[in-house]
Amino acid sequence: MTPVELIRAPFFHTPVNAFRDDLALVCQEDGGLLIRDGRIAESGDFAAVRQAFPGAAVTDWRDGFVLPGFVDTHVHFPQLRILGGLGRTLLDWLEHVALPEEARMADVAYATGTANRFVGSLAAHGTTTALVFGSHFSAATAALFEAAGAAGLRVISGLVVSDRYLRPELHQSPRDAYRDSTELIRRFHRHGRLLYAVTPRFALSASEPMLEMCGTLLAEHEGLRVQTHINESVAEIAEVPKLFPWAADYLAVYERYGLTGAGTVLAHDVHPTDSELERLAAGRTSIAHCPSSNAALGNGIFPLRRHVDAGVTCAIGTDVGGGTGFGMLKEGLQAHLMQRVAADGMNLDPARLCYLVTRAGADAVGLGDEIGDFRPGKAADLVYIRPPADSSLAEVLSRVQSLEESLAAIFTLAGPESVREVRVAGQPVHRAGEPIQGRLLAR
Ligand SMILES: [Zn+2]
Repeated sequence: MTPVELIRAPFFHTPVNAFRDDLALVCQEDGGLLIRDGRIAESGDFAAVRQAFPGAAVTDWRDGFVLPGFVDTHVHFPQLRILGGLGRTLLDWLEHVALPEEARMADVAYATGTANRFVGSLAAHGTTTALVFGSHFSAATAALFEAAGAAGLRVISGLVVSDRYLRPELHQSPRDAYRDSTELIRRFHRHGRLLYAVTPRFALSASEPMLEMCGTLLAEHEGLRVQTHINESVAEIAEVPKLFPWAADYLAVYERYGLTGAGTVLAHDVHPTDSELERLAAGRTSIAHCPSSNAALGNGIFPLRRHVDAGVTCAIGTDVGGGTGFGMLKEGLQAHLMQRVAADGMNLDPARLCYLVTRAGADAVGLGDEIGDFRPGKAADLVYIRPPADSSLAEVLSRVQSLEESLAAIFTLAGPESVREVRVAGQPVHRAGEPIQGRLLAR
């Protein structure tokens, strides 16, 4: 008989859309999560689950809280070492901070070190699934897939393709990009927990033959995702009609080449038109909202209410180099704060925050049937949070009156020091104090 584990802990999850259902947040004070074969076999009140499965070995985490693993829907692995480049605009930051570092990924040893640290950082912050911008270099992108595969994370990534506008060493012909992408798809797509995403950097850096090549890849392989950027800064958007004079708006560029729809995640969308929002919703294209990056680069305040009213799926991305770090809880807090100061902001209560960093992300990346909440049948991807005894969070949690208040405090105060264990499909991918690098080498 397969051994089963019963985790006993207060837990939270949002099995349904928290923007449509006021009761979306499920809180269990004395919760039980039964894990069998890497999946949630049962979830609910501990006593009830215990009665149904009396033989299960109990893991007692009543001193903390359990959430579904976080889903980061937009993050750039080569930008790990350039966090903190404050005070620039998007196009200036790209030229002087981001792209020089992206060019260093030509060095495979440097890229491999970056990839290993990147994957370790995701896990240490509770991120179990990430849609990741790879590198402009094939070997560096392969290094990311290998690091993610060894660590056991769900990573969806791809070669970043561009043939203009950046630096010459980051440009590649559509023919070479097709060859390298095809090879990476063969090596990594649907291998274990890895998936491939066709990744044109953004419209400015991709010629029409390059975008056409991206559409060809999608037609030739099943189950690929697409990730790119859209409507991030006003100055960027002003360049689009010069390069694509036929396009009615930014989204129309991607639409023409079949790069939108379910399984496509477009980052930012700070300045959409009403028509674009309608078409995003109708086509089930999702948006990765990156509030720290939008603020740090001065790109503006995300019109969340317009997206939600139009029916567009929005999830959260850290963006890393343009943002402020890997923490999805912190990113959720930043989204909350930005909405507080937005002219037409939405109240991001704990239910909506939980939804945005878990379930919405799962839907955005096309894994909504597999992950995102604790309903029976889902993979057991989870984060165990227990703050250090001497932390502000521990003080706050000692006096809160409800589980919902606890969750608000966790979003406000929990950093990686509070992330004690992270599981993917029931298997630990991070334990506090254990460097992931050691486990990578051991396997
Ligand atoms: Zn980005």
